[in-house]
Amino acid sequence: MGKKDKFKDELMDKLVSLCKRRGFVFPSSEIYGGINACWDYGPLGAEMKRNVKDFWWKEMVHKRDDIEGLDAAILMHPQVWITSGHVAEFSDPLVDCKKCKSRFRADEIEVTVCPNCGGELTDPRKFNLMFKTFMGPVEDEASIVYLRPETAQGIYVNFLNVQGPSRQKVPFGIAQIGKAFRNEITPGNFIFRTREFEQMEMQFFVHPSEDEKWFEYWREKRWQYYLDLGIRKEKLQWHEHGPDELAHYAKKAYDVQYEFSFGWKELEGVHNRTDFDLSRHSEASGKDLRYWDEVKKEKYIPYIIETSAGCDRTILTCLVDAYHEEEVKGETRVVLRLSPKIAPYKAAIFPLVNRDGMPEMAHKLCDDLQRRFKVFYDDSGAVGRRYRRMDEAGTPYCITIDGQTLQDETVTVRDRDTMEQTRHKMAEIQDLLEKKING
Ligand code: ATP
Repeated sequence: MGKKDKFKDELMDKLVSLCKRRGFVFPSSEIYGGINACWDYGPLGAEMKRNVKDFWWKEMVHKRDDIEGLDAAILMHPQVWITSGHVAEFSDPLVDCKKCKSRFRADEIEVTVCPNCGGELTDPRKFNLMFKTFMGPVEDEASIVYLRPETAQGIYVNFLNVQGPSRQKVPFGIAQIGKAFRNEITPGNFIFRTREFEQMEMQFFVHPSEDEKWFEYWREKRWQYYLDLGIRKEKLQWHEHGPDELAHYAKKAYDVQYEFSFGWKELEGVHNRTDFDLSRHSEASGKDLRYWDEVKKEKYIPYIIETSAGCDRTILTCLVDAYHEEEVKGETRVVLRLSPKIAPYKAAIFPLVNRDGMPEMAHKLCDDLQRRFKVFYDDSGAVGRRYRRMDEAGTPYCITIDGQTLQDETVTVRDRDTMEQTRHKMAEIQDLLEKKING
């Protein structure tokens, strides 16, 4: 490992520890020793996750006339997963070490012996990544159901259920955020690869002759989305799937990748899934899923351009990208330079001292701001320490009520990134925050 890589890995360790310490993310069922690759989001993490999902929903659904939202069930008819190809195909090649019993994904290791102990490896065998369970009291073959490994199928089987009532015309999209489950062979890298995660997926239905145009359109939109989240451009790249990587249903596929300490890794896939899914579901269910174009008097199965992002991966990316350490007055300042859009707290309110009417004014400001934003009230310790606590939590603005506030109702607003303080009228703070956060 080079010096640079070692430094980067140390950063990842520091980030994991900050997440635990400040209540962003911690191991699931920790008092029982945790459960492999399952994580819980604490108070700050839960806020941030909501913000990431809200931002995605706002961009993909609220700001558009041509995309509808959906919230489909996690448990679906088992035939869905047979038709989609997941029962037969959704597997990774698994190898076991005959000596130490470690398991690896054959396509992820470059050596022919066990990377842990050098022992002999078994031949690769297919390992299906879907979690199985049983519906109802009898645990037999007939009652098997799967925890969905992707949210997309819920959209395909509901294509006409959404299109009819919403009166959308092709081209249009259906968007969904929800949990997905994959029994990954080698989960890891904190919340990068887990067995339970959330996806933010949008399926855009287009005329087959317009697939390439829309594919490029969505590539551009989705790239801009990560820039709007404040991710550094030089840390992002596109990766085009080569012929041996392309999924059986895809005509073309590109991944948005981020440069983590463990390499360039996928954040989101933009796929041209052709008419594969709707044709298969049409055939298997016997329901005609063709779209009737009233203007052209044409009936056809639309092509689908999919944008499939991971919520947890987006959170990890934003945290990694935002983590900074710097020397300030001989001390190390740890700061999360998160975009205000997704920062857990938008502002913190401090009375300079706990007397002279300052707490009352601070509480009043806090109550006012809470109607629009998640803010945090802190009156303990020196103001410098309070700033540091908020820097670590990624809070973009700290507002202090001091002696002058009592005279002229102005407060100081301290910017997390520049550490500069400016004075503003208390009555203007709401609008100021609104402008800074939502542009
Ligand atoms: P990978 O190659 O990393 O396994 P994938 O190509 O299987 O990912 P997709 O099936 O395209 O991923 O899923 C879409 C998105 O869902 C991914 O870009 C990622 O952000 C997220 N995702 C997939 N698997 C996981 C996982 N195990 N943990 C967290 N997020 C995941």
